[in-house]
Amino acid sequence: KFITFEGIDGAGKSTHISFVADFLAARGKEIVSSREPGGTPLGEKLRDLLLHEKMHLETEALLMFASRREHMAQVIEPNLAAGKWVLSDRFSDASFAYQSGGRGMDRAKMEALEGWVHPQLQPDLTLLFDVPLEVARERLDATRALDKFEREQEEFFARCRAEYLRRAAQFPQRFAVIDSTRSIAVTQQAISEALEKLL
Ligand code: C5P
Repeated sequence: KFITFEGIDGAGKSTHISFVADFLAARGKEIVSSREPGGTPLGEKLRDLLLHEKMHLETEALLMFASRREHMAQVIEPNLAAGKWVLSDRFSDASFAYQSGGRGMDRAKMEALEGWVHPQLQPDLTLLFDVPLEVARERLDATRALDKFEREQEEFFARCRAEYLRRAAQFPQRFAVIDSTRSIAVTQQAISEALEKLL
């Protein structure tokens, strides 16, 4: 099965990925954990460019999908074919949230890219970690320095979040929206319930 983890910066996504890996491993599943942009040697080089170079918005979207195409070929598809569970820290919903919702790239173009790069593949489950903007901001400031993307305005994250929630409403069968303002224990309970449905 293919599980993706999504949410705006500071939503607490990374805290919960290892919980999911442990939860599934304890039930005898073979796990492969990966991330986007990145997940392959070429993808990690693209990630470095994406996070640090200024570029045209559509160049950014194309490089995100270039990283994704490589990630699918080298990691996602072979491991799914081998019966493993692939956990990806971000996938195409992030492109919709950040490049379309956040930066304003035409959504029809994004849908065209998605339809071209992965017409068949979709996650079996997308865990969307959702928090109000103020909470996300506090978490980021407390933990680490902001990168190029994060320095941008608060409204940017509000638009990203709105697009994530729009995607979740559009694809309710694969999305589980997890309110991650609650305690870690309560959040993990909600995650467990979403995972049980896949097992
Ligand atoms: O998931 P992670 O926080 O490691 O992502 C690194 C950065 O890349 C984030 O700051 C996020 O804002 C940005 N990003 C993006 N568009 C994507 C995926 C990630 O702007 N499609």
